[in-house]
Amino acid sequence: MRKFIPIILTLVIIFSPGAPAMAQTGGAVYIVQAGDTLSGIAARFNLSTAELMQANNISNPDQLAVGQSLIIPGLEGISGTLIAETVAYGDNFRSLSRRTQTPPLILQKLNRLVSPGELYAGVSLIIPQSETNSVSGTRLELNTGETLLEAAVRQGSAPWALVQVNGLAGTWAGLPGDVLYAPSGTSDQTANGLPSAFAAARVSNLPLKQGGTAEIHVQLAQPASLGGLLVDHPLHFFPDGQGGYVALQGIHAMLEPGIYPLRLEATLENGTKQAFEQMVLVLSGYYPDDPLLYVEPATIDPTVTQPETDLIYSVVAEATPLRLWGDTFYTPASEYADSTYFTSRFGNRRTYIGTGTDIKVEGFHTGLDFGGGTGLPITAPAPGVVVFAQELNVRGKATIIDHGWGVYSGFWHQSEIKVEVGQRVEQGEVIGLVGGTGRVTGAHLHWEIWVNGVQVDPLDWLEQAYPRE
Ligand SMILES: [Zn+2]
Repeated sequence: MRKFIPIILTLVIIFSPGAPAMAQTGGAVYIVQAGDTLSGIAARFNLSTAELMQANNISNPDQLAVGQSLIIPGLEGISGTLIAETVAYGDNFRSLSRRTQTPPLILQKLNRLVSPGELYAGVSLIIPQSETNSVSGTRLELNTGETLLEAAVRQGSAPWALVQVNGLAGTWAGLPGDVLYAPSGTSDQTANGLPSAFAAARVSNLPLKQGGTAEIHVQLAQPASLGGLLVDHPLHFFPDGQGGYVALQGIHAMLEPGIYPLRLEATLENGTKQAFEQMVLVLSGYYPDDPLLYVEPATIDPTVTQPETDLIYSVVAEATPLRLWGDTFYTPASEYADSTYFTSRFGNRRTYIGTGTDIKVEGFHTGLDFGGGTGLPITAPAPGVVVFAQELNVRGKATIIDHGWGVYSGFWHQSEIKVEVGQRVEQGEVIGLVGGTGRVTGAHLHWEIWVNGVQVDPLDWLEQAYPRE
């Protein structure tokens, strides 16, 4: 993706009628991105909104178009186009400076970094993208049969630095005959900061988000067993079928937005351990508050709910090594509702009040609710093995399907369970019927997805396949 940015920017500059000519102003220009506001851009460059409006002859701050060029005043010594770029996992201040051909002082000034150690993965940084800072360095050609790792060794540079400089998806993405560029001054093996056992490490979907599914990819440079930690969850890595490893990890919907550690650990065959850790950014899911819910006091009594919750946690704790799903998940209401017939979405903040008591329980909606009456068919969203099928106090008639790799589906409040523990189910197969059993105000299907011990937004899994690559 990164290597396409200069092309897109070039088009914007040529075809936007209002684009200031950079050569004439000699200053810095920022291209407006989706989601930007004038006040946000002003704050980013330590300007007032009025100063930014004045520099660009803007009278209405609401008329900001994506792709529009804004002159950024007051940045002495900095010229060219400024772009926002997300800091990748593994980037450090030096590697970023080298890859973007931007002097560290400029990077620091543009982003008001007090300390280079503040570089967190997932954070958006401003980087100058001028005509002169296209990729430079030593030309390097891959020989037939030569991997990027071997080429890196031959050329004396770190494989991961090669990947970064050339905008490749990973060290496996180099093809014979490819012309690559090696960073200048490649004697520095610590450019990427990764220990020698790792050839590459990457988080596909930065910044992370509450209720989202994090996807962590690792390429090893030598045989090792992989482990790690995201926030406080131990990671489980599985072969991705392309010579690398991938771990999926749910981000808790109530996790306070902020920065959290992502730690990778490799245990070599001789028992030596190597580790790499960097802070990654987790953003809010902006979940709304539901109205207060008044329920039977017994259904929110912790002596009733906690053992049931513990039981569910124990069922979904194990990450079984066989991945049984292939592509995106299907809606479990496929036989009776279209995919937009949700009566409640994932993540909504919920407060339960025990009717006639002062018992109050705060939480969030842990799944996706589909409207529909008792007796409508529920279908398996993806292939898997049934690992739980019984009636519970809060969840009613409940079924859990293990899809492998720590991914589970839960179906609550059914009127009837149509499967047994140990049964293999296929995508689209009827597994039960909609009902109103357990803690409910009416018949509906509640569907949730667990990823390595954490509930995530099932809509993400309906919209795209995990892992994404
Ligand atoms: Zn629900």
